[in-house]
Amino acid sequence: MKSQMYIEAISKQEYESKTRLVASLKIDGVEKECWFDYPSEYSRYVCDERIDAFAIALIPLAMRKGLDIKSSIPISEKLSYQLRNYYIPILSKYQKTFKKIKLLCPCSSANYNMKGAVGTGVSCGNDSFYSILKHIDINEKDFQLTHLVTMNVGSFGYQGGEFSYYWFQKEVKKAKMVSSELNLPLIEINSNLMEIYQENHSFSGTFRMAGAILGIQKLFSKYYISAGVDIKKFDITSEVNDDYDMFNLLVASNESTTFYSTGLEATRFERTKYITRYTVTYDKLTVCMCGNENCGKCAKCMQMLGALYVLNQLSNYKKSFDVDKFEKHKIMNLAKLRYYGLWYKTHFYKEIYSVFKQEQPFTYWLCTVIAITIIYPTEMIKKFVKKILPENVIKKLKKIIKKDD
Ligand SMILES: [Zn+2]
Repeated sequence: MKSQMYIEAISKQEYESKTRLVASLKIDGVEKECWFDYPSEYSRYVCDERIDAFAIALIPLAMRKGLDIKSSIPISEKLSYQLRNYYIPILSKYQKTFKKIKLLCPCSSANYNMKGAVGTGVSCGNDSFYSILKHIDINEKDFQLTHLVTMNVGSFGYQGGEFSYYWFQKEVKKAKMVSSELNLPLIEINSNLMEIYQENHSFSGTFRMAGAILGIQKLFSKYYISAGVDIKKFDITSEVNDDYDMFNLLVASNESTTFYSTGLEATRFERTKYITRYTVTYDKLTVCMCGNENCGKCAKCMQMLGALYVLNQLSNYKKSFDVDKFEKHKIMNLAKLRYYGLWYKTHFYKEIYSVFKQEQPFTYWLCTVIAITIIYPTEMIKKFVKKILPENVIKKLKKIIKKDD
């Protein structure tokens, strides 16, 4: 018999101030429980009539492991059609690690939506702010944002448990500030999906989020998920699922909830330019790769500092970044940014530097020369030293350098 993911039962459980949507699963004969927690005031919008939330959240895993998905509980008819005819055949063809599987469950074409709410996630990053701010006070009133969401479904570490929850709570704190400033209610969703996956979420992140939202499909008629890239970079063969988000979200939409891949029309630089018009971003914009505060040193922080610099917006973001430190070593920082972008692997650098080159040609060329003659060789030496020295010696060296800073 072929390996299988059997969705045995779906139930709704009330506890403390949460409503838990639980799926009892049998994965290759091993019993597991997968759940999503929603605030109890949204309990009546939690959908336990269909397997939609779990079928979508878990199908990337099922395809990677070659597990047929089986259940006697119905799936939305739209989802069934889209998964069988597009998602499964296309991804098993173009993704090296995805296998062809079967979806064996009955269908239901009911539309359960009763609130017509419109939501998007709030992570306080560039793309997230773009999606939020684009959908406030818009012409098409049925598309105007009514709720913000923050969820713990994999972006806070593949480990799950306490580790992910700790980082999630840090993000919730910032999300609450945005929610109160924009006067939009915030829905906090927690899950144990990570414990079922135990893998990095780059091949499944979009469907994990869509699954969590389908669990509350009676509330949301529309939900916006920020596109990782602009449409020109769409790539169905990429290992990062953000690169084919539009396809994912067409597939994940059902009779009750339609997903949109927002920001597809704009490059990252254009999105930054847009969000700098809104004061809510000034003290909350967070882009760092290292945690919930901007370190000002990693590639993502440097990109954002560079973009804000060429947009002449640095002074507005003093509460989000150590702008004084950036300006104190401005030329070296810009040269470092130039080094990161020397081969323009990320389009963002190209956009930052094309503006920089036009507006300050002398500084641009100075930074380019420093990047090639000083920073590039230094980074190569650093990499070499890292390779040959033991880790504890490197740690000591780093401490000494930090002291001198
Ligand atoms: Zn950083």
